Amino acid sequence: MLFNLIKGRNKQIFKEDTERVIVKKFKYVIVGGGTAAYNAVKKIIENDTNEEILVVSQEDTVPYKRPPLSKEIWSNEDPNLLESLEYTDWSGKLSNVHYDPESMYAKSDNIHLIKNKKVVDINLEKKAIQLCHGIWYGYDKCLIATGVRPGNLDSYTAKNDNRITTYRYLDDFKKLYNFVNQGDKHITIIGGSFLASELSCAINLNVGKKKNIKITQVVPEDGVLSVFLPEYLSEYANSQMRNSGIQLRTKQIVTDICESPDSGKLLVKLNEGSESFETDYVIVDVVMVPNSNISKSKNLEIDSTNGGIVVNAELQHRSDIYVAGDVASYYDTLTGQRKRLEQNDHARATGELAGINMSSNRNLPYTYQPSYSSELTPNFIFEGIGNTDAKLKTYSVWEDPNNQSLNTPNNKNKINIFYLNSDNIVVGVVCFRNFGKMNIARDIIYQSKPIENLNELNDLIPFIQFK
Ligand SMILES: Cc1cc2nc3c(=O)[nH]c(=O)nc-3n(C[C@H](O)[C@H](O)[C@H](O)COP(=O)(O)OP(=O)(O)OC[C@H]3O[C@@H](n4cnc5c(N)ncnc54)[C@H](O)[C@@H]3O)c2cc1C
Repeated sequence: MLFNLIKGRNKQIFKEDTERVIVKKFKYVIVGGGTAAYNAVKKIIENDTNEEILVVSQEDTVPYKRPPLSKEIWSNEDPNLLESLEYTDWSGKLSNVHYDPESMYAKSDNIHLIKNKKVVDINLEKKAIQLCHGIWYGYDKCLIATGVRPGNLDSYTAKNDNRITTYRYLDDFKKLYNFVNQGDKHITIIGGSFLASELSCAINLNVGKKKNIKITQVVPEDGVLSVFLPEYLSEYANSQMRNSGIQLRTKQIVTDICESPDSGKLLVKLNEGSESFETDYVIVDVVMVPNSNISKSKNLEIDSTNGGIVVNAELQHRSDIYVAGDVASYYDTLTGQRKRLEQNDHARATGELAGINMSSNRNLPYTYQPSYSSELTPNFIFEGIGNTDAKLKTYSVWEDPNNQSLNTPNNKNKINIFYLNSDNIVVGVVCFRNFGKMNIARDIIYQSKPIENLNELNDLIPFIQFK
C-alpha cells in the first residue's frame, strides 16, 4: 500500500542536490514498525506533542506484539479470530495483538505510518532515509528499530515449497492457523528455543485433539530450552511435552527437507539421512539475523561478534541516530559487556529510552535488566531476567528442600534458579512457578555483589503462596 496513511498537509519539497530529492523532512523518523518503534513513538509524543513523526514499516500492518503468536492466541476459539486477533492474556484480560487499532493511525495528525515499504538506504550526512521505491525523507533525529529476521531456508532442497516456513510475522501465524484448521495434519517444528517449544505446546494443547494435529519437534540439543535452563529442568520440560503428546526428537539434526517422491508430503531427513519421516508442514526456528543492512554504504558500524548496529549506553549510534530493540548492540553498564538481546521487554524499554533521549535534552543511559516469561504446558511456567545462559554456574533454591535432593520436579515444586558469573555475582534469575518476583530478582542483579556462600541465596526470593 503506497503512502496509505501519509497525509498531504505541510508537504514541503526541496532539492538537496540533482540526484536526491527529499520529499519531506520530519523532526522524527522511525525505521521499523515493531515493539521498539511503537514505544519510542509513545515517548516522543509525550515530550514533543505537536511534532510530526514518520514511521516506515516493511510489514503491511500497524505495530503489533509477537509474543502472543506463539502462546495465548492459539487458545481463542472464535471463528473470526483472524479478523479480531484477540487473545486472553495471563491475567485474564482480553487483549489485541495490535498495540493500537489501525483507525488510531488514520486519525492522528502527528504520526504518519508508511506500511509495506522497506527503508533501503540512510544518508547520515544529508540526514535522510530512502524507501524502496526511491523516495527520500529527511529527519532531524532518526531511530533504527528494524529487529531481526529468521535465517533463510536455502540449505533445504524444498526451500521454495510453501509448506516450509519460518515464524515471525503476523502473516506466518495466519498461514499456519489456516493450515492447522484444515485438520488431520502432521506439523513439524525445528528448533529447541522458546518460540519453537511454545508454539509446539500451544498448538498441541489447544487444537491438537480437536483438529487431530500431530506435532513433532526436532531439537538439536539434549532438550528444549537447554540453552537457558539447568539440565534437570530442561529434562523435566522434555517429559512434560512428551506426556502431553508431542513427539519430541532430541539430539537430532535436520540435514534436509525435500518432497517425498512416494506421497508428495514433505520428507524430513535427520542425521545425514540415516533416518527420515514424512510431514505436512515444517516450521524452521533455527537462526535469527539482525536487520542491520539498511545502509548502502559502510557508514553504520556493525558489531562483528553479536551482530546488530552498535550504540553506546545512551542508545546512540552517532549524533541524531539511535538504535533500539533486537537490532541494537548496546553497552551494558552493569556487566561491562556489549550485548544484543532478542526480548520483548528489552525492545519496549530501549524503544522508550531512545524516544525519551531523542525528544528531550536528556541523555539517559540504558541500565534496565529486561525480563521475560514463558509457558509450555499449563504446569511448566516461568519468568526470567538478566543473563540466563545455561553455560553459567546455576544454584537452584527449591521451595521444598526435600525435592531438591531428587533433582526432579513434581507437579507442584516452585524453584528459584540463580545464574552466577565467574566472580560469583548473580547476573540472571529464573523463577519457576513462582510468579511476580522479577522486581526482587532485578534488585539482586543490580546489587552486583559477589556471593561468598551460596546459602545466602536461599531466602532472597520468597515463594508465592496460592490460596
Ligand atoms: C512468535 C514470537 C514470540 C515471541 N515471544 C516472546 C516472549 O514471550 N518474550 C520475549 O521477551 N520475546 C518474545 N519474542 C521476541 C520479541 O517479539 C522481539 O524481541 C521483539 O518483537 C523485538 O522488537 P523490535 O521492535 O526490536 O523488532 P520487531 O518487532 O521485529 O520489529 C521490527 C520491524 O521492522 C521492520 N523492518 C525491518 N527492516 C526494515 C526496513 N529496512 N525498513 C522498514 N521496516 C523494516 C520489520 O519487518 C518489523 O516489522 C517473540 C518473537 C516471536 C516471533
